[in-house]
Amino acid sequence: MRTKIVAGNWKMNKLPSEAAALIEGIRKATNEGDCGVEVVVCVPFVDIPAAAAALKGSKIGLGAQNMHWKANGAYTGEISAGMLKDLGVQYVILGHSERRQYFAETDETVNLKLKAALEAGLTPIVCVGETLQEREEGKMQDVIVNQVTKDLAGCQEDFEKIVIAYEPVWAIGTGKTATSTQAQEVHALIRATLAKMNPAKAEKVRIQYGGSMKPNNAADLMAKPDIDGGLIGGAALEADSFAAIVAAGK
Ligand code: PEP
Repeated sequence: MRTKIVAGNWKMNKLPSEAAALIEGIRKATNEGDCGVEVVVCVPFVDIPAAAAALKGSKIGLGAQNMHWKANGAYTGEISAGMLKDLGVQYVILGHSERRQYFAETDETVNLKLKAALEAGLTPIVCVGETLQEREEGKMQDVIVNQVTKDLAGCQEDFEKIVIAYEPVWAIGTGKTATSTQAQEVHALIRATLAKMNPAKAEKVRIQYGGSMKPNNAADLMAKPDIDGGLIGGAALEADSFAAIVAAGK
């Protein structure tokens, strides 16, 4: 049995001075994260100290949204895995489609970051997903297999430490959700791809769905056999909607 994991991706929202209030609401609404589902908030870098303080004493995990693969050095503006760990961060989102689209993230850099995150003891949440054009051109399967294979290359022995998020790009922030049947099809494809890389560990990998997951569709999605939670954008910015999605994973 895989424990479901629901993570909020705040993206570039909430000031450091606003983080504690949202976390306070999430603590109350999720019974301090002690609810049978692993609950995580992935906040902007500058919100991390405030979020870490606000999460103390709860079971809710703290995540970042990106990192560099090098441990230190002349990389102006970048943040290393060690810096995140030093602030109490436990999870990190890697390869989000917005980073691939706007910040030239590639499968190669996602793979370097994944190795560095594992080395540092962070739990990576690796995002994969096809664009609308790729889906309409019948390329979804190739795109997903290619991303999973390249992003996770060389990390087969650590599969149980990795979370994957299937996020169809066309469903992120658009209000369009993949149907639970569409999502399950891709989640099964991801698991089959993992099984080719390491048959013994593919069943242990948690695969979240992300893309306009809301309180009204979360239960249906997470009832599917290969959907092990959610990565939540918009609905994670409000404690009650985030907690309702968490509750749907029970
Ligand atoms: C995301 O950015 O990871 C996401 C799924 O966003 P939204 O829930 O707003 O579609």
